[in-house]
Amino acid sequence: KYYGLNELREMFLHFFETKDHLRLPSFSLIPQNDASLLLINSGMAPMKPYFTGEQEPPRHRVTTCQKCIRTGDIENIGHTARHGTYFEMLGNFSFGDYFKNEAIHWAWEFLTSPEWVGLDPNRLYPSVFAGNETTPADDEAFRIWHEEIGIPEDRIFKFGKADNFWEHGSGPCGPCSEIYYDRGEKYGCGKPGCTVGCDCDRYMEVWNVVFSQFDNDGHDHYTELKQKNIDTGMGLERLAVVCQDVDSLFDVDTVMNITNKVTEITGASYGQSQEKDVSLRVITDHIRSASFMICDGVLPSNEGRGYVLRRLLRRAARHGKLLGVNRPFLYEVVDTVVHENEGHYPELRERQAYITKVIRVEEENFAKTIDGGMKIFDQLLAEHKEKGETTFSGADAFKLYDTYGFPIDLTIEMVEDAGMTLDRSAFDQEMQEQKTRAREARKALGDLGWAGVEFGKDIPSTEFVGYDHDTVEDAKVV
Ligand code: ATP
Ligand code: MG
Ligand code: MG
Ligand code: MG
Repeated sequence: KYYGLNELREMFLHFFETKDHLRLPSFSLIPQNDASLLLINSGMAPMKPYFTGEQEPPRHRVTTCQKCIRTGDIENIGHTARHGTYFEMLGNFSFGDYFKNEAIHWAWEFLTSPEWVGLDPNRLYPSVFAGNETTPADDEAFRIWHEEIGIPEDRIFKFGKADNFWEHGSGPCGPCSEIYYDRGEKYGCGKPGCTVGCDCDRYMEVWNVVFSQFDNDGHDHYTELKQKNIDTGMGLERLAVVCQDVDSLFDVDTVMNITNKVTEITGASYGQSQEKDVSLRVITDHIRSASFMICDGVLPSNEGRGYVLRRLLRRAARHGKLLGVNRPFLYEVVDTVVHENEGHYPELRERQAYITKVIRVEEENFAKTIDGGMKIFDQLLAEHKEKGETTFSGADAFKLYDTYGFPIDLTIEMVEDAGMTLDRSAFDQEMQEQKTRAREARKALGDLGWAGVEFGKDIPSTEFVGYDHDTVEDAKVV
C-alpha cells in the first residue's frame, strides 16, 4: 500500500508509543558534549549517555525520528538509490528494558502487519551475526527469526563483523539483525549470484536492529553486559522507497517535490540522462543537508562542521554549473525544502529567512571566485596533460584552494573526472606549511595577530548560538 513519507514517520512513532515508548523530538545535528563526532549520523548517537548509564533517560523505552548527516556517503549520492548525505532515521530504543525478543517481534509486526505498513513478508530477509574467533554467532536471534517469526532457514542470511556487529572501540557493543527488502528484478544488477548483501539496490537494507549485549575491554575480550540495550535504525526515506515502489530516495514524494523545484530552476529535465540525473540528485540532496545544518546553527567555514557545509554548498553549486546555471540559485530551493519538512520541523519556517540568506551569501562568495578558478584549473589541467602527466600537483591544488577558495575535495573530484589523480600528500604539506607561516606571523604580531593575518583560513568554525539576530552579518560568515 502507498504511504507518504510524512505518514510513515507518524505511523512509526505512533506504533512504538503503543508499545509504551516515549516519543522524543529529533536532537540537533550538532552533537552535544561529544567531541568524537562532527555531525549526528544515527538515532542512537545523541543518546549515548543513556546507553552508557551516564545519564538517566526520561523513560527506559524511547522512540525518535532523528535528522542525520553522513558525509561518508557523499560519493554515493545520485549513483545509488539508497544513500543521501541527509536522511531521517527512525528508531526505537531500550535502555536496560526489553531485549532481542520484543525488538525482533515488533520490527516484524510494524513492517508486515496489515494494520501497519503491511509489506509482503516474502520479500523480507533478515540477517544475523555469523560469529568469529572472538565472538559467538547470534544463535538466539536466528532462533527467534526462524522458530518464532517462522522464516525458513535458507532465507536468513549470516554475515560477519562488518555488517552484523556494532562496535566503536571499547565499551558496549553487540551483534545486530538487519532487515532487507527485495524490490524485485527490475532494480537489480542482474549479475549471477545477486542476492541479499549484493551492493546493488535490489535487496535494499531497510532496518538495522542492534542488540547491545557485550562489553569490549578494548582487547576483544567480551563479557555480557548487565544492562542490555536495544538500538534500532531504519531510514525513513528507504521505507518510503519500498512503500511507494519508486526508483530511489530522490523519487519519494516529499523529496521529489524538491527535485522538481531544482529541475524548474535549472531547466534540466529529470530522467533524461544519467549525467543530468546525478547532478539533479546531488543538488537536491545537498540543499536538504545544508538547510537542516544551517537551521541547527552551522555556518560555512574552512574547518569542522562549517567545512562540511561549505563543501556541500560548493559541490551543489558546481553541479548547477554543470547544468548550465551561472547564477546563485540554491537559495531559491530553500522555500521548497521548508515547505516539504515544516510539518515535522517547524523551526525550518521560523529560520527560513536566515537559512536562505546564509546560502545566498555563500553562493555569491563562491561565484566571485569560481569563474576565475575554473579558468586557472582548466589551464593547469591542460599543462599537466601536455606534459603527459597523470598526477595533478599538490602545489597547484593548493593555489586553487588558497586563491580561489576551491575546497580540496572539489579539486579532487574535478581532477578525477579528468581521469587523473591528485598528489594529496603534497597538498597536505603545503597546508601544513601555510599553518606554520600563519602561526609565526601571529606570534610576530603579538596580540594583534588575529587581525586579518589569515583571512579566515584557520579560524575555528563559527557556530551560531542564538537567534536574536536574524541576519548573516550578525552571525558572521567566515
Ligand atoms: P548501507 O549498507 O546501505 O550503506 P548502513 O549499513 O551503512 O547502510 P546503518 O549504519 O546500519 O546503515 O544505518 C541504519 C539504517 O539507516 C540503514 O539500515 C538505512 O535504512 C539507513 N541509512 C543508512 N545510511 C543511509 C543513507 N546514507 N541514506 C539514507 N538512509 C540511510
Ligand atoms: Mg553505509
Ligand atoms: Mg549495511
Ligand atoms: Mg547497516
